Amino acid sequence: MKGGIDRREFLRASLLACGSVARPAGIKASDDAGSVNPGKLHILYAREKVPRFEIPSYRGQSYSDRIPDTLDIAERARLGVHALTSITDPNADFEIYGACHFFRNPPVMDHDFNDWVQNQEGLMEALPLLRLASGDTMNNQVDPVWMKTTLQSIGPDGLLYVPLEGRPWGRLHADGINPVWRTNGTRTQYTDRSVTQAANASSCQRMIGTMTIYFLRDGNPMWTATINKMIERLAVLAIQREDYCYFAPGSFEPNATVPPDAPMPLGSTWGVSWNTRLIQGLMQYYRVSSHEPARILAEKLVKYTRYHGEIFEPEGPWFLDPEIRGESKSLAVSDSIRKKYYVEGLKRGGHGHGHGIGVLAMLEYADATHDGDLLQFCKTSFEWARNPGSEYGASTLVGWFPEFYVPHYPSCEGCIVGDMISMATKLSAAGVGDYWDDVDRWVRNQFAEQQLTSVDWVYRLAAREPRKPVGPFEVAERAPERNVGAYAGGASANDFALGVASSGIGHCCTGTCTRTIYYVWEKMVENRNGRLRVNLLLNRASRWADVYSYIPYQGRVDVKMKEPSREVVIRAPEWVESQSPQIECKVNGTPRPLAWAGRYVSAGAVKAGDLVMLTFPMEERTVREQIGGQPYAMVIKGNTVVSIDPAGKNVPLYLGRERYRTSQVAWRQVQRFVPDKEVVW
Ligand SMILES: [Zn+2]
Repeated sequence: MKGGIDRREFLRASLLACGSVARPAGIKASDDAGSVNPGKLHILYAREKVPRFEIPSYRGQSYSDRIPDTLDIAERARLGVHALTSITDPNADFEIYGACHFFRNPPVMDHDFNDWVQNQEGLMEALPLLRLASGDTMNNQVDPVWMKTTLQSIGPDGLLYVPLEGRPWGRLHADGINPVWRTNGTRTQYTDRSVTQAANASSCQRMIGTMTIYFLRDGNPMWTATINKMIERLAVLAIQREDYCYFAPGSFEPNATVPPDAPMPLGSTWGVSWNTRLIQGLMQYYRVSSHEPARILAEKLVKYTRYHGEIFEPEGPWFLDPEIRGESKSLAVSDSIRKKYYVEGLKRGGHGHGHGIGVLAMLEYADATHDGDLLQFCKTSFEWARNPGSEYGASTLVGWFPEFYVPHYPSCEGCIVGDMISMATKLSAAGVGDYWDDVDRWVRNQFAEQQLTSVDWVYRLAAREPRKPVGPFEVAERAPERNVGAYAGGASANDFALGVASSGIGHCCTGTCTRTIYYVWEKMVENRNGRLRVNLLLNRASRWADVYSYIPYQGRVDVKMKEPSREVVIRAPEWVESQSPQIECKVNGTPRPLAWAGRYVSAGAVKAGDLVMLTFPMEERTVREQIGGQPYAMVIKGNTVVSIDPAGKNVPLYLGRERYRTSQVAWRQVQRFVPDKEVVW
């Protein structure tokens, strides 16, 4: 259907992708960007009419500035907006193409059931957050259509249903949806054409979070009413045990009935997807609303996750998933992976993102309820994943973590890198640990490299493959270009794409990692009680001060104050010891003594307009490390990899980083943006 893309459709897609139809912000739900499209599909949603809503403009200050040409998180957020809105299909209400295949000639994006990562892996949650961070209005015809179709997907019982009819790929490669529980209490399969709508905890979880963001921005009580009804229904569907609960495996038709003896899902793939993930949405909402039913349901799911789901050991380390242990089968873990990486007696490990998103969900509960014991659990779980033992091949140095925590697994899914950075950021912000140095290293290296920023190589890679016709539900036009800003599905420490488990980009990673961008952006500069705290030495504009990072060209960071501050506290770089006299500070060119507090230095009180300049040494070192079972030699300047050997075979990473080996700073003219109001997320 999409394979034979015609010229007119191509032009539309191109226009949409390059953002030239961007509208002024402040968009009404009734605006319909696809109204003149003759190829438009008629998707059978759970309902046609939806309540009115309007997306407020992303207001803030936008100004031109000159910054050192070093990592700029706001720029990464802008690239994220590009990817999220450009991989969309105007014929299908801007549904995303769920994956992009680089080992194909020509490279293609394709539709299948898994397009629903758009909702379930957070692309819709990330989009408003990234617009806040960047101020970017590119392709903002997508946002109201996404939300309108979300509201159309709310069924009569309040759950969010995936429509299976009207999307010809709706049942293609479906996983995690069987069995389907019916209204009369029987069960069937998704291939049964009488099933037209399917929901589960996974379809609802991120949309609770997304609607919470919309509520925070416009205050419309329609969002809270919709969420409350959804939670009420989820609580009824949950199978109650003593002090915990769980959801039956698979999915539900509208008004489904589930027998109380339905089996309990286990493991980090389906146990977490059908249960644990919901905790995150519930608690994102609880933090804003204090809606007690949300907390109660979340509390029971926390107990399921921690003590019954065979996902974590009680103290936090990860249980190897039943699919890898060989006790059950699902498409989530392919037979080839199960056979190749099975290790007799291995107890700990399993799917990276399955566990990672589980920890993040529980962290959301622990943080909102100040549950110290659970915070400690999350910390232990994170620390196990961060340094599980050399056989797992993880690199805490560059932020490379295996998709499957089993010995010698070669490939890293963007999702787990994003999860690890999100956990490190949230644990640090909650004061449970101090992982800012990890965040700094991981964001500068694997995370930055796993975001697609150029496409020439994609065509060179694709040209190695025999030509293959573009199939049904696939699209080739500018497929690589439209993915700029998306995240690699399976990278080594020096190859964007290995072709193991992912053929380039699976957009679960794009959803996960773009939200991570926001977490990092939001928490790297904080202002509490008139005290400014800079946690990461990266470029960042804010209403209180603008940060200019010269790292890694030079050991220098400037903080240009916009508001007076009782105290400015700045993180010391990892390679400078505490109390070292090597860090020097000048305020408006005059030396200022520094006071150390842990890993931070305080420059004391400052006025609006003051320029606080920190300088420190910047040196290179060579490090040898096994990552994903492969030996590498890396030159690291400060915390930034500037050279890595051996070179990648398909798509080498870290290209162009030689430029950082000089101390001659390159500058860039950028448009900086400071939102009037940030969302605490
Ligand atoms: Zn992923």
